[in-house]
Amino acid sequence: MPELIEWPCDVPGCQNFVCEQGAICYMCFEVRCDEHDKSPLHACREPQTNAERQQRKNNTKKRYLGILLSKVEEYKHEIIKDAERHGLGQCELVLPTDTEEFFESSRASGFNIHFPLNWQDGTKWLLRVRQDLGHRLPRQVRELSIRSEVTTLSILQDNGIPVPAAWLPAYIGTDEEDPHSEPPFDYFFYEFLEGKTWTIPKHPWYAMDLPQDTLSHFIEGYAKHQIQMSLIQLPVKQIGCLQPSKLTETVEAGPIIARGTFQNSKPPYLLGPFSTQRDRYLAHIDATLRYIILGAVSRYDCLDAYLWHLELRELVSHSDVLAQPIEEVHIKHDDEKGDHLMWDEEGNIVGILDWEWAYTTTKGEAFAAPYIFYEDIDYITADNIMTKEEQLLIDCYERHSRPDLADCVRGGRLYQRLRHIGQYADHNWKRGFREPFGPNPAPNFHPPKYDVDWRVYMMKRYTDDVGLADIMQRSRCTIEKSEEEARKWHQEKE
Ligand SMILES: [Zn+2]
Ligand SMILES: [Zn+2]
Repeated sequence: MPELIEWPCDVPGCQNFVCEQGAICYMCFEVRCDEHDKSPLHACREPQTNAERQQRKNNTKKRYLGILLSKVEEYKHEIIKDAERHGLGQCELVLPTDTEEFFESSRASGFNIHFPLNWQDGTKWLLRVRQDLGHRLPRQVRELSIRSEVTTLSILQDNGIPVPAAWLPAYIGTDEEDPHSEPPFDYFFYEFLEGKTWTIPKHPWYAMDLPQDTLSHFIEGYAKHQIQMSLIQLPVKQIGCLQPSKLTETVEAGPIIARGTFQNSKPPYLLGPFSTQRDRYLAHIDATLRYIILGAVSRYDCLDAYLWHLELRELVSHSDVLAQPIEEVHIKHDDEKGDHLMWDEEGNIVGILDWEWAYTTTKGEAFAAPYIFYEDIDYITADNIMTKEEQLLIDCYERHSRPDLADCVRGGRLYQRLRHIGQYADHNWKRGFREPFGPNPAPNFHPPKYDVDWRVYMMKRYTDDVGLADIMQRSRCTIEKSEEEARKWHQEKE
């Protein structure tokens, strides 16, 4: 859930705002400011066992789904009227009658919940409802998100990609701002696709856990789909999420739909579109630096996280590759967990789901392998050598006479490493991030090997940075103290 915006504390009468990861408590779905985030004011903070925690979470989710279901029920006639505008005759919206069963089937649901919508002629649609955990995003963000998903699906369908057809609801389709016609939840219509998804077993430290022939089949299917994606020509040359264009009556790149730290905590919330990769990554890094100063992310290692993003800023600023003008863009799915692919009994891909986060970007980034192909312990410890899965993907592309896409996989590390903007973790070895930027990533930049020395080096390099001064004060840290720590660390090491 894109939650890094300012949420008002849910305690009645409290005027405080909260902006941080997990602002909406995962156990009670309430927002609590620091003052009200303690026991007994916040019952979830009371000591409890894992089983009790799970029980609390389940009860909240059940309550939330029950409320959502009753809202959909109340709005049922409007939804049916809205669907029937499309001239397919009469339809029926099937809502669950057994709430326990509904809860069980929705347990693993992600950002959306689906209700079947059946037409008299046998056509099947789904009502795709966004889950907001009782905290609705600002209208502009919600609408851009739904418009972008529907627009992306339409473009993909027009180009023969097997995705569900999608239709905007009336309350978003109209140009006029009319807050009264807005339903109490967000939805759009989605075609029902037959097929099964595979859950791909994957631990962050290890490769996909699939038998060799299943893995080869999976990668071959993925490669064929990506080849089809590479043939789509878009009337767009910017990085952003697709939106309908009023001007050209086709599509245009709109802002990036908020996710992680790639947004603002206050209106206008969304960033982009961007005309170069450099502008895009710098905007993401700067937004992250602002969130670190706010205490919204990396609360407990804010100094290193801040310094790390200053380093990334330098690397991105000096990259010639990222500064290139953009000649063509492609759609990147951006939620490729493997279970987004639907297969038929014969092992063919019959559908690709979950385009909510898709955006347009350069060919190099769009055809770099998704994380399930490369994320493992070697990648974490700075290795940038192609994995077995990436090599299989390269082989597929070459077999299908697409050496250009094979090259995108080979050059993908730069973009894969930059996906970590906003998610600093000291167990990710820094060397692995510098390497894809080439041998001299920035002028006079010679970062020391060990983090204790790197910290001192970066603080000295950025003595004029106002945000850094603030973070150092908050962390009760000085250059002298850090130098002393480094000295001790080396002594102990020897
Ligand atoms: Zn709670
Ligand atoms: Zn409060």
